[in-house]
Amino acid sequence: MLGLMQKKQLLISSILTHAAAHHGEQEIVSNTIEGGMHRYTYADAEKRIMQLANALVRLGVKLGDRVGTLAWNGYRHFEIYYATSGIGSICHTINPRLFPEQVAYIVNHAADQYIFIDLNLYPLVEALGAHLKTVKGVVVMTDKAHMPDTAKLSATIPVHCYETLIADEPETIAWPDFDENTASSLCYTSGTTGNPKGVLYSHRSTLLHAYATHMTDSSPLGAADCVLPVVPMFHVNAWGVPYSALMSGTKIVFPGIQMDGGSLTKMMNDEKVTCSLGVPTIWLGLLQHLRESGQRLETVKRFLIGGAACPLAIIEGFGKEYDISVVHGWGMTELSPVGTINAPKAGMEKMSADEKYRHQLKQGRALFGYEMKVIDDDGNALPHDGKSFGRLMSRGYWVVSEYFNDDENPDGILDDDNWFDTGDVATIDERGYMQITDRTKDVIKSGGEWIGSIDLENVALSHPAVAQAAVIGIPHPKWDERPLLIVVKKPGAEVTREDLLSFYDGKIAKWMVPDDVAFVDEIPLGATGKILKTKLREQFADYKLPTA
Ligand code: AMP
Repeated sequence: MLGLMQKKQLLISSILTHAAAHHGEQEIVSNTIEGGMHRYTYADAEKRIMQLANALVRLGVKLGDRVGTLAWNGYRHFEIYYATSGIGSICHTINPRLFPEQVAYIVNHAADQYIFIDLNLYPLVEALGAHLKTVKGVVVMTDKAHMPDTAKLSATIPVHCYETLIADEPETIAWPDFDENTASSLCYTSGTTGNPKGVLYSHRSTLLHAYATHMTDSSPLGAADCVLPVVPMFHVNAWGVPYSALMSGTKIVFPGIQMDGGSLTKMMNDEKVTCSLGVPTIWLGLLQHLRESGQRLETVKRFLIGGAACPLAIIEGFGKEYDISVVHGWGMTELSPVGTINAPKAGMEKMSADEKYRHQLKQGRALFGYEMKVIDDDGNALPHDGKSFGRLMSRGYWVVSEYFNDDENPDGILDDDNWFDTGDVATIDERGYMQITDRTKDVIKSGGEWIGSIDLENVALSHPAVAQAAVIGIPHPKWDERPLLIVVKKPGAEVTREDLLSFYDGKIAKWMVPDDVAFVDEIPLGATGKILKTKLREQFADYKLPTA
């Protein structure tokens, strides 16, 4: 017997409708590429989104068509999110930091019909021109006054101006109704091996993810909050913020291209930001800026940090010096992206401040709607004891089932029980808190034991002279591999190899202490701000450890 409740489909357009109807006066503020701040209300945004949706229909964009974006966090990008998905087409966000060949591969693989591009990125699409095989038009996300010279690209692909394109369109549209399992957006993984792979989100998965990331123990946003997503809209939908913020009527501040500590501090104080989200490197920059300038963040209560392991130095720095709580979360493109968030359980209020900070190093508990387990190499589930580590497996309402047009995995990417192997190695403790020890391919295999690089990096990062740290395995004749610590020193700081190695005493088991330290000027970062261990391994391919 079926229930007798309404079968309203979970569609992204319903978020916008709700937001404009009940929070029409709420603001969206953007630091623009053209210069200056742009501000308007949810009600204004809805009108322009409807104009853009009408323009897309006029251009012939249909249900299931892919519309690419190469853009930073700003109001026009936000409008494209809702206009494309609203009419049933797919918002395909592309990372502009990728190499041009990767961008061309992704656009062609996704068969994008149109590309929307931010003004300062225009040279990228101009250079790719004829390599974009399926693109019927490029839309430059600016007004007529700021349009670049488009003569070169126009010879092969029509080029439109965003503001001109939408100017004469009606400010209303009747959003179509369709199955909630319809695809809504597409994001390619930043995979370090093989070609990038497309993760195709649905309206249903996006809405359920947005609900879940809203719960009190997740990353809650309210109508009195102001959120600044530093996490880019081109990377897994800015962790869902453009959807979750509108569900609650939260003020949004889009930072554009200025994500340095000084610019973030100014925007956070000017706009009274209460919550912000991003990867650890951003927060290290901000912390350093605050310390050097003596400025404070007057309204910020919480940072959600994920995308890479958040070091203790950030958690303690913001907690002790600025009274801002750092909430550690974990996820991945294949998970929409959030899987776990570290919120306390009853009884933890008795922990000392230091115990609490250390506990924040864990990536957190599973949100409702997401399931996880760790398994050994034979597929057996490992106990939740905080010690046994193995492959982290995922399943749930917003977990990938297969990649988009995937030729590389003919047998699929799930096991018989629909578990997806995340490629991460983790432990889960008695209370259900998961902690990532490494990526499977980065784990250091030393004499039959595994050493996770994240723990070793965290210790190094808590040394006052260390700005950045990475640990990789170096081949060793006796132990297979041994850890090498690679360090960028803070400007003006002095520290020796011996200082750093003895800094590990008492913090981790002796046999895990790195065998050597290499000082470098910079550590290579990938397109999403994560350390490129593959590059480091190439760089140190001929490195001889003193212990070898
Ligand atoms: P991406 O799909 O590019 O977002 O990358 C996802 C990967 O980033 C995960 O599989 C993890 O390896 C890593 N990651 C994300 N969040 C964290 C975190 N809080 N701690 C450690 N690694 C993380």
